[in-house]
Amino acid sequence: MNINFEEQYSLDLRSLQSSEDNCLNNHKRIKNKSSKKKKKKNKSKTNCFKKKYMNKKKKKKIKSVKESNVVKKTKIQSNIIRDLKVSYYESQAEEEIQRLIALKNEGIVLKHRKKGDFFKCLVCDKSVGSFSPAENHSHSNDHLSTKAGHKLSGIDFNFAVDIESYSDIEVIISRLRELKKISRKVKFDYYKHGIRLKNGFGKKAYFCSKCDLWFESLTEVKKHFEMFDESRDQLN
Ligand SMILES: [Zn+2]
Ligand SMILES: [Zn+2]
Repeated sequence: MNINFEEQYSLDLRSLQSSEDNCLNNHKRIKNKSSKKKKKKNKSKTNCFKKKYMNKKKKKKIKSVKESNVVKKTKIQSNIIRDLKVSYYESQAEEEIQRLIALKNEGIVLKHRKKGDFFKCLVCDKSVGSFSPAENHSHSNDHLSTKAGHKLSGIDFNFAVDIESYSDIEVIISRLRELKKISRKVKFDYYKHGIRLKNGFGKKAYFCSKCDLWFESLTEVKKHFEMFDESRDQLN
């Protein structure tokens, strides 16, 4: 076998080329492989982080949900307690209001002062310290007979005529108030002329049985009596 130099050279060159190509390809393949692996690795790494992060987030969410549930529970409980308190105070207040109304219907009113509140019976002109004594007074014979006009005596008994209802506390209190305004002597003078006390307020406060007139106030009564007095003086 005789191969000349040129042929030998070209053969060598080709083989070299091919081996070089092979090497390059191999290298590329390896590189690709490794990069794929790396990518995979990276991907798995990021996945792992994601998982951890998500887990943390989940845990946080669960914790916050639990916490919010606790907050909700305590809020509901405090609301229930508040509602109970409100209804308790409302019922207490309602009860007190009912008692105050019952006392007021008997002419006993709550008065305020710096030392403390107290009750005053406008019918008997008596003061008591608290609810129970005030209620006891409202049922007492003393109060009931004063209220019914039985306690009026002397000129008061004659000057103040009967009224339709002795349960009308406004009328009773007004009559007692008016009786206090007029002196005993003037009451006698008015009585002799024919003037009488009826309701003590409104259109039927007083009336004159002699002149058949109604008066709304003591001022009107006074004017009427003075007119009568003047005409009597003129006649004389
Ligand atoms: Zn009384
Ligand atoms: Zn008259």
